[in-house]
Amino acid sequence: MDPTWRLSPKLMKRFYEPLVLLRVLAQVQGERVNGGGIEDTTVGDMTVAQTRREVMQQLCVMGDFLNGGDTVTAIALENLPQGPRYWLAANAQLEKIETFLTEVLGMLEAQASSIPHEDAFSALEHRLFNKFVDFHHRRIRKYWKLLQPCIKQELQRIDSAREGDLRAEEYSTWLRAYQSPLSDHRSSCELTLLAYESRHSEFLRVAVDPLNARPTAFERDSTKTIRHYIGRLCAPKRAAVLLNRATQHHPTLFEGFSLQCQSAGSMSATPIPHAGLTLEGLSSRMFSTPLAEQTQFLEALLSLDQKGSILPRVRDQYRDRNWRPRVHAELALLEVLSDRRVRFYDDDKYIACSKAACFCCYHYICAHQGAFVRPACHNKVYLNWKPPDLSTHTVARYAQQRDVMISLTTHIRQAVVDRVLRAQYGAKWHPDSSTGITASVMDSNSRATDNDYEGASNLNSSDGDRRSSQVSQQVSDSVTNESEDSEDGGVSLT
Ligand SMILES: [Zn+2]
Repeated sequence: MDPTWRLSPKLMKRFYEPLVLLRVLAQVQGERVNGGGIEDTTVGDMTVAQTRREVMQQLCVMGDFLNGGDTVTAIALENLPQGPRYWLAANAQLEKIETFLTEVLGMLEAQASSIPHEDAFSALEHRLFNKFVDFHHRRIRKYWKLLQPCIKQELQRIDSAREGDLRAEEYSTWLRAYQSPLSDHRSSCELTLLAYESRHSEFLRVAVDPLNARPTAFERDSTKTIRHYIGRLCAPKRAAVLLNRATQHHPTLFEGFSLQCQSAGSMSATPIPHAGLTLEGLSSRMFSTPLAEQTQFLEALLSLDQKGSILPRVRDQYRDRNWRPRVHAELALLEVLSDRRVRFYDDDKYIACSKAACFCCYHYICAHQGAFVRPACHNKVYLNWKPPDLSTHTVARYAQQRDVMISLTTHIRQAVVDRVLRAQYGAKWHPDSSTGITASVMDSNSRATDNDYEGASNLNSSDGDRRSSQVSQQVSDSVTNESEDSEDGGVSLT
């Protein structure tokens, strides 16, 4: 295999090491970041570009038929003279999703190509809805099961309310409708329709107690969960409505379509750690030279290790034979679209995905030279992640990907340093404007620190701020300055 286009093992070791540490410290690195999706807009009011993105998004959501991440689906759209080419990738089960979406797009194309007729549109929406419910039956059943204990809790709360309370009675009736057992396709359809029709119910209002309609600062888990799963249950109907309307308003999105699948490739073997993995060695690889800040970082890390067994957990991760990194669906598309210089509609380099991007995918896409649309991000760290292979094996493309990985690793290291120092020094963070999501990441870090390492705050916050900022800068500078050949100074990522 030509070594000129592969990311070096050294770079990958230096990527995974802080990633594992960050995951051990906390999985969630900040609040959700919104991307380029459209919410609460009907197709008739959307521009062509908005509709295009929403159609891609709904197809992704319908392709993702299982809970758990295996069937996460990504779609991009190429503008070809003969019609749109839908590029499809999935974390797994690609063939099954391809078959399903080919049928769906065929139905949409048939409608888009025929003479517009109200009855035909109504029939198409009905057929799409049934197809979606059928494909998603396992998801629907899972959501129904997860709803039941929360509904029980709320019904018990209603029992303790005053007798004759009209609102409590209405709320009780509304909840009980979701207790009907799921026995067949028809009952699944009824449940999802019920959810869709009640999606604007006053009982689902955010920060309002549904039992007494009073504002509440601390929402109960049961009401939050009910709102969440009812929202998820709406998906098949929402997709059927939107895709059907898109055939009326923007038929060219379907006429003459083709579908091109892109495999995400196979999983990798478990990553290998640096020899003699220690916190001292790990700390030294985070910084270019033995700076005072590195000493502070190591002290803080050792202190955390005493409280939370950091090093054993890092070592356990490397021993886990089930740790098999894989390419996430949106990145499988991103690199192949770059390699092929695909022509997007209106140069809108948008890749839709059924789930918001993870921490690594988000920073990979943001750092990518192809200027793709910034995706939504849930800011969670997943260790089952690896960069996509390139299909164009040139030194220039390899260098581009190496730069993206260096940028990503810098973000990971900065997140580690911030989290460790904040845990030790209890700092209140000043947002760094140099990165797209730093403000929300750091806000959340601050809260997570309070929760995860209670009692660790001993120094005043201005002191902590200064230390954390200084060290982050050292990490950032050192990644770009370090010689590629350096083995021990640590920060080189190549
Ligand atoms: Zn991802």
